[in-house]
Amino acid sequence: MDEPTADSAEPASARELLAAERAGALERIESLRRQLTSIREVSTWTGADDEHDPEGATIAYERAQLQGLLTDAARELEALDRATTRLDEGSYGHCERCADPIAPERLQALPAATTCIACATRP
Ligand SMILES: [Zn+2]
Repeated sequence: MDEPTADSAEPASARELLAAERAGALERIESLRRQLTSIREVSTWTGADDEHDPEGATIAYERAQLQGLLTDAARELEALDRATTRLDEGSYGHCERCADPIAPERLQALPAATTCIACATRP
């Protein structure tokens, strides 16, 4: 892999942070998919009717919840992939709107952040 360069402007931990976040997002997606599959299996077994069976309504609600979480996780994974690409291109850590450097604290908390705090809080 990459040679560690002590004088590089790129924070060595950014890649690790992104990789860790990415692994977490993938795990979450995997687990949500499993839960969605098991819900589908349950509703097939019981023949639950989403509209008339109260059990079915609960299942439908749970499924919608999981679907939402899955969408969020997929979006997060996409953002992390884009951040990793920016890291390769050397534009990581710079705001996409004003090109100012993004505060390191912000990148620590949100490794996939694409805007500085000023731009993020501006509508
Ligand atoms: Zn900015």
